[in-house]
Amino acid sequence: MPAPAAPSPAAAPGSPSLTARLAYVLLFACSVLLVPLEVWHEWSGRQTRIEEVRTAASNLAHSLVRDAEGNVAMADIALVSLVEQMEAEGAGSASLAQSSRLMRRQLDNQPGLRNFSVYGADGGLLLSSYNQVTAGISIADRDYFARHRENSSPDLLVGTAVRSKLDGQWVVTLSRRFRDREGRFGGVAVAAMEIGALMRGFVGYDLGAHGSITLVRSDGRLLARMPLDEAVLGAPILNRTPVRDSVARGESGRFQFVSPIDGVDRIGAYASGERYRLAVLVGQGTQDALGAWTWLALLRIAFVALVAGLMGFLGERLIRHAERRRAAERTLAESEAQFRLLAEHASDMVSRIGVDGRIRYASPAAVHLLGLPARALLGRHLADLAEADDRPALQAALDEAAGSRAPADATSRITKPDGTRGWMETTIQQVRAGNTAEREGFVAVSRDVTERRLIEERMAELAATDGLTGLANRRRFDEVLATEWLRAARDGTWLAVLLLDVDRFKMFNDRYGHLAGDDALRGVARAVDAAIRRPGDLAARYGGEEFAVILPATDAAGARDVAERIRAIILQTDIPHEANESGLVTASIGVAAVQPVSAAQPEPSMLVAAADAALYEAKRTGRDRVVQAPSITVMQARRNAQGGVR
Ligand code: GH3
Ligand code: MG
Ligand code: MG
Repeated sequence: MPAPAAPSPAAAPGSPSLTARLAYVLLFACSVLLVPLEVWHEWSGRQTRIEEVRTAASNLAHSLVRDAEGNVAMADIALVSLVEQMEAEGAGSASLAQSSRLMRRQLDNQPGLRNFSVYGADGGLLLSSYNQVTAGISIADRDYFARHRENSSPDLLVGTAVRSKLDGQWVVTLSRRFRDREGRFGGVAVAAMEIGALMRGFVGYDLGAHGSITLVRSDGRLLARMPLDEAVLGAPILNRTPVRDSVARGESGRFQFVSPIDGVDRIGAYASGERYRLAVLVGQGTQDALGAWTWLALLRIAFVALVAGLMGFLGERLIRHAERRRAAERTLAESEAQFRLLAEHASDMVSRIGVDGRIRYASPAAVHLLGLPARALLGRHLADLAEADDRPALQAALDEAAGSRAPADATSRITKPDGTRGWMETTIQQVRAGNTAEREGFVAVSRDVTERRLIEERMAELAATDGLTGLANRRRFDEVLATEWLRAARDGTWLAVLLLDVDRFKMFNDRYGHLAGDDALRGVARAVDAAIRRPGDLAARYGGEEFAVILPATDAAGARDVAERIRAIILQTDIPHEANESGLVTASIGVAAVQPVSAAQPEPSMLVAAADAALYEAKRTGRDRVVQAPSITVMQARRNAQGGVR
């Protein structure tokens, strides 16, 4: 028999299994890490978006700064010719008239130019593109004038945004110095570019509600801006921004900062011109560029967090549920193992019976109980385990168990294949499916009760046996007589009884002593026992030195023969008895036989009384003889007593 599986040394209850731990890790990875992953994804999306905005801004800034420098270059061409005229012809009236024509021609060609003007070495206005010359105008206080006077460089100076002294408009001045005939500082020629005209190139780009385009000098001073805020025109607006130094070095790049002008956070790019050290910054409001996107990103992150949370929650419950089921299954398996252990190791045979009474399972104890391996019992009917005579009793127990919740039992005889016989006690209990009323079958526990049964039988035998002679005792005699009376009445057969009394036995005791008396009684008992031949005959010690014999299916003549045989064998036993007539132990025997008329009113005592009367007659007529009671007398007596039954 294979050793039953011991309960596995599984993890302590409550601590999750390896699988569950892995599942938790996976769940954690999937749900918890999903959120940072999504945040990272959104963040890189944001960076890409910013990059896109900046690239577009950079392209625009480069293009705009090229335009601006182009406009400056156009104006510069005019200034150069103006300077050449002044240096060649001097500041005479003819020269000024020539210059004035030059200026007007240029103004017609370049709509972005506001005016031209020429100032003398003292800063006083010599000539302007306006017809009438406003007297008393001087630019001696202007920064660019001072620089031209101090510095002999003939290069163009791009001034900052100022209000024109000629017409009060916001302009950006472009200026070059010229020399007089002696080669000294002769004055300054100025072209004024309208801020508005500068800004015309900024129009038409969609930069959102908070977009801005800014034109600055490389020193950070504001030349033009869209949207325009006149309050800061000419101010060094890049001073408090991170791009100040880069712009000062004439570089291009990208930025994000909060504008010192209007406090708007912008992302964008700047580009520096190569010739005139101008720079254009193109920025888009960070909110505008990313606003909707930011909300969507937050929404997406929130959604992912929600999904992750839900996933974590459900996953955790799922794992917990699986763990609980696993624990339950383990407990079930353990308890099944326990029960199997009990069934397999019990000395009693445990069997599972179907509703049809057939065996579905039998424990290994079948070998000891029935001498058969358990598998040989499968499919056999439970009742068939018993010997033929006892099958109905076992079937009855099965039926009884089927009809009640209480167990039913039966004891039946069994025969093993090797021929040994024994007794089996079976307790049958019905089993219902779950809590329903539907019967699933039975569980039967069968045990070997052979030994107990033998002891019981022995005790019963002892209780029915006379201790001195070994014959049946008086009680047994009465029982058997009653049974045989019924049988005879049922079958209509004869029944005979012999009553035997040892002759003058009192004297035997007196002469030979009580112990010798007992020996003599044993000898008589052996003689009685030897005389009866049929299996159904019963010899009993009736009391003292009296014996009785029951002879079923024996008529008066047959009974007399048996009585004579007893008498003869007693004589042959040859026990001396001096006080007796024959000198040996003898006995007188009364014989009575009857055909009982009715089982309904059995009166076996009547038969005994008749035998007793015959015995008395034998004593009276000389002892050591057999006297037969007239059976007809018994029948007659009954007939008379019952008023003619039959
Ligand atoms: P009878 O021929 O008339 O039967 O004479 P009897 O002496 O046998 O008379 P009775 O039947 O009255 O006496 C029975 C005697 O048998 C009495 C007793 O001493 C003796 N006896 C009865 N039972 C036993 C016994 O178990 N052992 C011995 N040794 N003697 C017994
Ligand atoms: Mg007697
Ligand atoms: Mg006697």
